[in-house]
Amino acid sequence: MITPPEVQGPDGRIYRVGTLYCIGRNYRNHAREMDAPVPEHPIVFSKSPAALTQGPDIYLPPEVNVHHELEIVVLIGKPGRNISVTAAEGVIAGLGLGLDLTLRDLQSEFKAKGLPWFRSKSFHQSAVLTSILPANDPRWKENYWLEIDGKRVQEGRMHDMIFPVTELISDISQFSAFFPGDLIYTGTPEGVGPLRVGQELRIGIGKDELGRYWIR
Ligand code: ZN
Repeated sequence: MITPPEVQGPDGRIYRVGTLYCIGRNYRNHAREMDAPVPEHPIVFSKSPAALTQGPDIYLPPEVNVHHELEIVVLIGKPGRNISVTAAEGVIAGLGLGLDLTLRDLQSEFKAKGLPWFRSKSFHQSAVLTSILPANDPRWKENYWLEIDGKRVQEGRMHDMIFPVTELISDISQFSAFFPGDLIYTGTPEGVGPLRVGQELRIGIGKDELGRYWIR
C-alpha cells in the first residue's frame, strides 16, 4: 500500500511531510567543484513529498547517472510567514541528515535547455532522510559524513554553510508560508558522485550513525 510519507520529530511527534525545499550551492567547495559561482542569495528549488524515503532500501531508476548529495535537513515544527532570522530557531522541530539524489546527466540537459529540472530532482526515493535529532544537540558542531562501502566520500560542517539555517528559513518565509512537516535540504558540501546498485551507505555525524541504506 502507498501511504503519504511521515517523519518522527525528536520528541516523538509524527509529522505528515509537506514541501521539500532544497538549497543549491550553499557550500563554497561544492560551487567550485560544479564550476558555478557562489550565489549572493539562496538558490531555492523543491521536491515533492512523494520523493521522501527513510530507507533502508533505495531503488535507483535503471541505467541513469544518479549522484548523491549529502545534506543537513531541517524539519519545520510550526507554521510561519515573514520569519525574522532571530525568530527562525523557534520554528525548527529538529535536524537530520539526508541525501538529495540527482539524475545529474538529465539535470545538465535541462539546465542547458533552460528547462525546469524537476524530473531530475524529484523522482521516487530521491530524498533520503535519517532520524531527526534536536537542533541544539551538541553533535551539530561536529563533522557530518557519508560513507559508501566503508569509504568516506563526503564530509561537511554546518559552520561552512554560506547561508546558515536561520537565514534560509527567514529567506524562504518571505515568499512562502511554512507548515509543520516541511523539510529544508540545506545544500551539499563537495564530494558529490555517482551511486551504484549493491552499495551500502552510512550517514552520520561525529562518531554516530544516523542512517544506513542499501542501493538496490
Ligand atoms: Zn542538493
